[in-house]
This record gives sequence, structure tokens and C-alpha cells, in this order.
Amino acid sequence: MLPDILPVAERHGLIINDRTRGKREVLAKCPFCGEDSKPEKERKYYLSLNTEDQVYKCWFCGESGGVFRFISLLEGISEDEVVEKYRKQKGKKYKPHPAERLTTTQLKLIGYQKKPDWAEIRKGFYDYYLDFRTRLWNEWKAFMEDEKYFAFQQLVLGITNGTYQKVVRMIKEREQEIGAPLLEPVLKIYSMSERPKWAEEAERNVLLLFKKTNIAACRANKSAAGSEGGSNAESRHFDWETNP
Ligand SMILES: [Zn+2]
Repeated sequence: MLPDILPVAERHGLIINDRTRGKREVLAKCPFCGEDSKPEKERKYYLSLNTEDQVYKCWFCGESGGVFRFISLLEGISEDEVVEKYRKQKGKKYKPHPAERLTTTQLKLIGYQKKPDWAEIRKGFYDYYLDFRTRLWNEWKAFMEDEKYFAFQQLVLGITNGTYQKVVRMIKEREQEIGAPLLEPVLKIYSMSERPKWAEEAERNVLLLFKKTNIAACRANKSAAGSEGGSNAESRHFDWETNP
């Protein structure tokens, strides 16, 4: 199997004639003679890339050959080196980008109904593959940021109201659901002397909410007891909250 010539051309920034994409012969501006880069030849594309045989030919300067020669000229290394590099690469197992390792369950969490056929997409337009991969990965990262934000709030609340064990359990359950670590990262953030801004904000919000619900609970308790200025611990807490 030879390397695909079109992704090679795209990686090296060759200008492709978009109207020829998807065809057997894809046209590009020739990087070797540069004739079709002259201003008056804006519409000309002299370099033909054969995407089946992985060969190329410039109709103006005559430069032609196979994909290995193509790479060797574009990268300024010998053809032998190119072949050697390619063999080594093929020998190594393809290491997928983290976006490609997201599971079907994880993809559903960010709104994708099924796992993309990465091998197929990689074979297609290289730019599209890169864009898609980046977009997906950014979506996952945004999702994880929300998850961490929420888990951090749970943790702060658990520490504040004495339900730490319970929230740890809940966070661990959520880890299972999303198949990504949560507890360790949020504990790490909690133990930092200088926490990121979002964590400070999350903590402020959750403490504020805690205070409010406490007050509401005390009010409810108070009216249930039917007595003004009751002497139980909770109403003392309430008095302290409202009249510091
Ligand atoms: Zn040429």
C-alpha cells in the first residue's frame, strides 16, 4: 500500500482545485515550476494528482513520478529516506487521537448518535478529518469542564454539610457513567492553594446556595414550631444568619 498522494499534497499546503476533489485526477497548482501561480494564470492548475495510482505529473514543466518522489521533492530529502520513514511509520501501530478514542457512550453524551468511522474519514479529505476531530474534541472538553464544575460543587457542598462520603460515592458513579476521571481532578483542584477562577466561582455559588437553603429550612422549622425565637440550635443559627 502506497501513501495517498492527496493528503500529502494537502499537508504540504498545495492549492487544490476544489472542483476536481473526489475525482480520480485531482488538479493542483504545481509547486515545482510555479507557472500556474502567476497572476494571469489564476484559473490554471497544471499539476495532476492521480489518486488511484498515487502518481503525479505537471503538464507544464513535466515534473512527474510516484508519491515517494513527490514527498522527497516536497520535503527535500532523498527518496530512500522517504521510503524508510514510511516503512517505519507503517510498522508502528497507528496511535489514534484522543477524540478518536471516545466511546459510543461518551459520544452520545455530547450529542452524537454513533461513533464516526475514523479510518474512513482519515482516508478522505485530510483537512476535513482534522477539522472534525478538533471540533469533536473541543465539544468533549467543554462537556468535561461542565462535569468538573458540577462535581467540584458537589464536593464543596459535601465537605460543608458533612455528606462528604455520599458525594464521593455520587461523583464516582458519575465517573462510571461518563467513562472519564472526575474525583481525582476535583480533589486536586480543591487542595490547590490557588484555585482556578471557575473553581472559586463554583465554590462561592454553592456556599451561597447552602446558606439560602439553610435559612429556608430554619424558617420552615420555625413556623412549624410556631414560636418566635425558638431556642433550638437551628433557629439560633438562623438568628445569627439574619442578625450578625
Ligand atoms: Zn510544473
